[in-house]
Amino acid sequence: MLRGLMQEHPLLVSSILAHAAKHHPGAKIVAATPDGARERTTWPGVQQEAKRIAQALARRGVQGGERIATLGWNCQHHLALYYAVSGMGAVLHTVNPRLFADQIAYILEDAQDTHLFVDPSVLPAVTAVADRLPKSLRAVILMRDAPLPDLPCEVLTLDALIAGEDGGMAWPALDERAASSLCYTSGTTGMPKGVLYSHRSTVLHAMAAVQPDVFALGALDVSMPVVPMFHVNAWGIPYAAPMVGASMVLPGPRLDPASLFALFEEEGVTASAGVPTIWTMLLQWLRADPARRFTQPPRLVVGGTALPVAVTEGFLKEYGVEILHAWGMTEISPLGSVNARKAENADWDQDRFLAYSRKQGRPQFGVDLRVRDAEGREIAHDDLAFGELEVQGHWTAAGYFNHERDPAVTGDGWFRTGDVVTVDALGSIEIVDRAKDVIKSGGEWISSITLENLAMAHPDVQLAAAIPVAHPKWDERPLLVVVPRPGTNPTPESILATLEGKVAKWWMPDAVEFVESLPMTATGKLWKAELKKRFKDYVLEKDTVR
Ligand code: ADP
Repeated sequence: MLRGLMQEHPLLVSSILAHAAKHHPGAKIVAATPDGARERTTWPGVQQEAKRIAQALARRGVQGGERIATLGWNCQHHLALYYAVSGMGAVLHTVNPRLFADQIAYILEDAQDTHLFVDPSVLPAVTAVADRLPKSLRAVILMRDAPLPDLPCEVLTLDALIAGEDGGMAWPALDERAASSLCYTSGTTGMPKGVLYSHRSTVLHAMAAVQPDVFALGALDVSMPVVPMFHVNAWGIPYAAPMVGASMVLPGPRLDPASLFALFEEEGVTASAGVPTIWTMLLQWLRADPARRFTQPPRLVVGGTALPVAVTEGFLKEYGVEILHAWGMTEISPLGSVNARKAENADWDQDRFLAYSRKQGRPQFGVDLRVRDAEGREIAHDDLAFGELEVQGHWTAAGYFNHERDPAVTGDGWFRTGDVVTVDALGSIEIVDRAKDVIKSGGEWISSITLENLAMAHPDVQLAAAIPVAHPKWDERPLLVVVPRPGTNPTPESILATLEGKVAKWWMPDAVEFVESLPMTATGKLWKAELKKRFKDYVLEKDTVR
């Protein structure tokens, strides 16, 4: 081998912040505080805070690989912690404060965290598990000043922690394969499992995230991750934005449409990312008053669950806002695929592409996809055949923390996503369902997501969930559970009429039940496992075999 004569530098998380602080000191970082005020800093300011935290942690004896947990919103201290912890060689473990107490206790124990940084507004999530905190936990540190709670370990504030530090340290040259952060899956389909990212995977993921067909970020952008920093590292935006020197707006805990819109307008946000519920609520709020218009329409990215085309269309046609539909998961850092145009569909008119935007799209470089059926054969790319999606790539998990031998990875090294998809001739995937949620009627599969999306097109339907109920002959049949829009009273027949002719006859739900609300997970996803439990003894009135 003739070895290339190029320098080799490890791909380190700290190098991203060092770059932004050195070359983009003019970019702004704005953080909305829990009480509605705004705090401002810069990339050098973030780096200074990060280095002071890193110094303090080192002084407390924190070692490489040690897990340091956070429970907080998108704020500048959380951003500084991202870099402080990973930068010094420890592992940043972001925990979702909206998880159930049992899950939080389980996650802290599983990760064996030694320090826990908490936003005071979510302290109840910690006090609720005070008697179950792991023995490994040495200190709880409040991210901002507040009365110190009584806990079975040392408690102090961030200010007190870093009071004696001057930020005069150099980031250590770590091995790029070292773990940098840890994120647990949100447990939609089971107990949470830890995904342990490396410096290398994080930097490569950020390089992919800024590309034109993904977040399209540059130095002139003002990027606002609405997706929380505990939800797959805010989809990598806290790394992607400083990599290109973009400004950042951190929305804090208030994610209601009015608060977000104020940030969009007043801070000149050009790019943002969030789950479908956030953008659906924003669209409804905008429509309620014709005066609510964007001065400069931002670009939005959506993922986490499928976005109904009606929302993409409303934003584009009524507000000039483009939404990019992306698919990902905790195990893939999260970026897996994006539905951006390519040569084959460049000339499609707006309506044709809008209809296509329901799909989750194609992988970007760094991710490879394969879809296999139950017999392990790759499926036809005909938009019809279903199979389980498998992923391989530079930022895809090779195993779970503490469960390295989890069967989620195939013998030939592909991560099994548990998502059931079709693939079309352009190579775009469409999520048909989670493997655990497909309704198996007479040995054939029915996509619960398709039924839900069609039902939600009914004007009086606020939310819909399709779940299987037991059937003596067909094993399972679909039941549609509907939350009507407030003040409306739709009939089962009118809802079923919106599905009629759009799906095969045998896909039609056998019954419609109305409920006031549906169970949601801590990341705002429909919690099907819980809903199925509630309806597990449901008996269909008549045998409507189709
Ligand atoms: P959890 O699996 O615990 O919900 P994640 O946040 O990692 O946690 O979710 C990943 C899953 O979310 C994917 O496997 C997929 O089922 C779903 N998902 C993500 N993006 C989309 C999307 N654009 N459309 C449909 N489903 C999506």
